[in-house]
Amino acid sequence: MAPEEFRAAGHQLIDWISDYRKTLDQLPVRAQVQPGEVARGLSTSPPEKPEPLSLVMSDLERIVVPGITQVQHPMHYGWFPSNASLASVLGDIASSGLGTLGISWESCPALTEVEEVVCDWLRQLTGLSDQWEGTIHDTASTACLTALILAREKASDYAEMKSGLQGVPNPLIIYTTEHAHSSINKAALLAGYGKENIRLIDVDSTTYGMSPDALRQAIEEDRKAGRTPTAIIASVGSTGVTAIDPVQPLGLIAREYDIWLHVDAAMAGSAMLLEECRFMWEGVELSDSVSWNPHKWMGTILDCSLFYVKNPQHLIRVMSTNPSYLRSGVDGDVTQYRDWGIPLGRRFRALKLWFHLRLDGVESIRQRLRRDLENAGWLAEQVAKTKNWKVVAPVTLQTVCIRHEPDGLNGEELDKHTLNWVNRINQSGEAFMSPSILDGLWMVRVSVGVESTQREHLEKLWGLIQSTVSEFE
Ligand SMILES: *Cc1c(COP(=O)(O)O)cnc(C)c1O
Repeated sequence: MAPEEFRAAGHQLIDWISDYRKTLDQLPVRAQVQPGEVARGLSTSPPEKPEPLSLVMSDLERIVVPGITQVQHPMHYGWFPSNASLASVLGDIASSGLGTLGISWESCPALTEVEEVVCDWLRQLTGLSDQWEGTIHDTASTACLTALILAREKASDYAEMKSGLQGVPNPLIIYTTEHAHSSINKAALLAGYGKENIRLIDVDSTTYGMSPDALRQAIEEDRKAGRTPTAIIASVGSTGVTAIDPVQPLGLIAREYDIWLHVDAAMAGSAMLLEECRFMWEGVELSDSVSWNPHKWMGTILDCSLFYVKNPQHLIRVMSTNPSYLRSGVDGDVTQYRDWGIPLGRRFRALKLWFHLRLDGVESIRQRLRRDLENAGWLAEQVAKTKNWKVVAPVTLQTVCIRHEPDGLNGEELDKHTLNWVNRINQSGEAFMSPSILDGLWMVRVSVGVESTQREHLEKLWGLIQSTVSEFE
């Protein structure tokens, strides 16, 4: 495609995206397609000859759009807010259009240096001290895997340069809770720790945060048995109920026993833009690494996960490769982000953060986050004051966990009732929420925070929930 052809096609595509974003609230929230339906709509063989843009666009609308669960829909309350601000979309397009190659500073100095600057902007915006240096990973899963590899290499005195974990006599142990994200378990397995060496520490029965006493006891037991306590993963904003592990006491324990502390704030990191929320990760300066996702609530389009470390020299020692074809005269003077993570080739992700922050401004982002906190608080209040309704976990941020508990229903019957009403709403396409199990019983998570969700949408949701539930009574 020649640049002039691209210009015309690009204008059409941008027009189409603008219309789509303007009207997507008329689409069903959850994709209504059956498994295999999208694939059946597509040609089974690749095109030998060029096809017209109009045909591709009409298939986009006819086949692809119905296969999308509309997470930008104001009635989407599932999983977590996966906002994709249009300002950041422009940055993403700019990044693609520039067609850069990020394999070394030399291959695109701007890619490295814009990333350094925006990571520092976000460091300042979240109140982290200037002890931290950051990079952008694709996802929090990758950030956590990196953190666990760093912890492993620190505890094993760089075993990777010898015979790896196969030469380490004492098992290396990880501490987290059952509320931690599934990516932590996955990262622990991939980093070679082994399932038997993951400890799920007890949590406080009201806040669901990790118990520092239970952590200390588990560490002591492992040490007595000759095992090596290696990493603590603290969740600031857990997946199910947005629980907050108490970072300060965990950090003091980590420092006392010299254990790597990784703070996973994938979801709640956005809230750290608000000074009034920063108490939630008080003690974060005691940790060794921190990650969070601007691609969730803050609204920089996926994929954009920030990863900060206190000691980049350790990170570089563990991750660096220096093949002859990548060496250059400036080595040692510049940042080589390939040594800060797993991939060699990197996208120019910093541009979407740069566009997002510059075009929207931090003030409007903060306002939106505060609006969402108020809206979640409003919903929790309605639920709590309504007969037979319960808010089943503390509302720390924008997630409200609720259950309808009609008189006399419990156990399996209550679970059936919960799944019945939430599935009916989800199937209708009018709204979408994620049911989840807490303390052995199903509940429904209402995750507030889509960019377009206003109070009126929450009022509509609460009305819809109550009328749906009454159909089962
Ligand atoms: C979403 C989430 C993750 C995983 O994020 P990805 O970027 O999708 O890998 C990890 N931890 C927590 C607490 C999360 O909310």
